[in-house]
Amino acid sequence: MRRKIAAGNWKMNKTLTEGQAFLNSISGESLPDGVELIIAPPHTHLAAMAQEAKGLSVAAQNCHWKESGAFTGEVSIGMLQDIGVNTVILGHSERREIFSESDEMIRQKVDACLETGMQVIWCCGEPLEVRQNENANAYIMGQLLSNLFHLAADEFSKLIIAYEPIWAIGTGETATPQQAQDMHKFIRLAVANHYNQSVADELPILYGGSVNPANAAELFRQSHVDGGLIGGASLKVDTFLEIARSFS
Ligand code: PEP
Repeated sequence: MRRKIAAGNWKMNKTLTEGQAFLNSISGESLPDGVELIIAPPHTHLAAMAQEAKGLSVAAQNCHWKESGAFTGEVSIGMLQDIGVNTVILGHSERREIFSESDEMIRQKVDACLETGMQVIWCCGEPLEVRQNENANAYIMGQLLSNLFHLAADEFSKLIIAYEPIWAIGTGETATPQQAQDMHKFIRLAVANHYNQSVADELPILYGGSVNPANAAELFRQSHVDGGLIGGASLKVDTFLEIARSFS
């Protein structure tokens, strides 16, 4: 049985007060058996929310790979762990595209996180023209090779992967359940070939890209889809809970 995860990526949204109100409203709400909730708020909220969170994990949206130093505006893994944050999203397409994070930077972040026991939600996803040219599988394979496949099997098996086609993020256009299933199956097969079947069988692969209460159940019903990384629809308690309750 693989993990079932509903992870909310708040990006640069909500004040701390709003985040705390969200936590209050969601705590104690019932969920299907085994479903894990993760919320990734802005850095400024992490310390308070990690302390107050009951029944869910609080994740960072980014971190640096160095322990300390002259890196203005950055936050280290040690700083996150010191305030009780043990999960981080890495390689989100907004970090790659808007903030020019290279594959090399993401690889260094992945390495540093896994070495220090941070749980990583690693994101991959192809741009629209790549999908239209039917090169999506090769593109994702390239991201796996350059960001992850140098890892030893025991390190790799600590990862969560989020497949987030860039054309579906924040656009209201969702991959069809079949498109998500096909890509997740492709990723799992690549992992089985590179590592082994049991690492592939255990790997949680989340789908991200305009997940909402209307499409979540069908997406989560796909055998290779183990949950969602949810942006816009994670900002409201009701919609996030409805999505988290969509696992069958
Ligand atoms: C995301 O940013 O990870 C995301 C999937 O956003 P949205 O759900 O808003 O498309």
